[in-house]
Amino acid sequence: MADFSRRRFLQSAAAAGAFAAPAAARFAAGAHRRRSPVAIASANGLQAVELAVRRMTEGWRPVDAAVAGVELVENDPDDDSVGLGGLPNEEGVVELDACVMDGPSGLGGAVAALQNVKNPAQVALKVMRHTDHVLLVGEGALRFARAYGFPEENLLTERSRRAWLEWRERRSARDKWIAPDENGEHGKEWFQQFKGKTGTIHLGAVAANGDVGSCTTTSGLAFKIPGRVGDSPLLGAGNYCDNDVGTGGSTGRGEACILASGGAFVVQQMELGKSPTDACLEACRRVVRLTKVKRLLDAKGRPDFQVQFYAASRDGRTGAAGLYAGKYAVCDEQGARHVDLAALYDEAPR
Ligand code: ASP
Repeated sequence: MADFSRRRFLQSAAAAGAFAAPAAARFAAGAHRRRSPVAIASANGLQAVELAVRRMTEGWRPVDAAVAGVELVENDPDDDSVGLGGLPNEEGVVELDACVMDGPSGLGGAVAALQNVKNPAQVALKVMRHTDHVLLVGEGALRFARAYGFPEENLLTERSRRAWLEWRERRSARDKWIAPDENGEHGKEWFQQFKGKTGTIHLGAVAANGDVGSCTTTSGLAFKIPGRVGDSPLLGAGNYCDNDVGTGGSTGRGEACILASGGAFVVQQMELGKSPTDACLEACRRVVRLTKVKRLLDAKGRPDFQVQFYAASRDGRTGAAGLYAGKYAVCDEQGARHVDLAALYDEAPR
């Protein structure tokens, strides 16, 4: 090997070494090492992070603690973005998506477009533990859930059914549906809260020994096309973890997160040395860079949607960022609380 190429080879080998050994060594010996478990979630997960931390304190594996936490939200009929009471697709059918990932084993499980079962994250855990697959969808996911004894129920609540009916009535003035105000009943105010509605819970969990686990669960985009799957059940998009590094996940416009490989990107940024908050901000910048078509931009040329990323490092640091302002939930030894997202832009899209 000529001197020149030999030097280059040695340099690049050294650089590769710096990336290959890195996470485990850097994080294990890290100055930030924690003694107590930590959990981070989207803003609707305040009680979920508290429960996840309690479960990890009792010795639960992080992925199980994460699923126990999000189950509170899946079971809440008043959260219209997840599980029971989640807003349905355009045909009025609730289709749920979820995935889980377990740091110590490196395994994951997921279900998408699952109907009639309110706890898809639990079903995803079973996929991870009882099959050699990662993702089951639709009818196959339902049959799998049925076989494992999950009860089936109508996931529409009175509120979500009414929202869907009103969405259908308001969709066009040129069809045969009549909206309430056209009949002098009530105006648009009540329905405004559901327009373009998204919502989900992502939860990243870090045990006292640095093991990690994570979960994302959702009813997806309100009034979506049947069969539409967002980022939430896709490992590497709405959720990812690496036991040598930490957890990453997202909520918001799933299509943007899928196209940016959000969850995996956040974890990779931490592996390369970024703090959790900076890793999430970097993911936001990536979404901005990849959003090019006009129909997705506001008058100022910024994405006209929100996307949020959440990260927790195996040494117990947490952080989250969004394109626009918002909150997230975190629980550590100081208890559960809401924290402001780091935001790329000051004002909401116009
Ligand atoms: N990310 C979810 C999806 O696209 C929705 C959300 O988080 O708001 O299905």
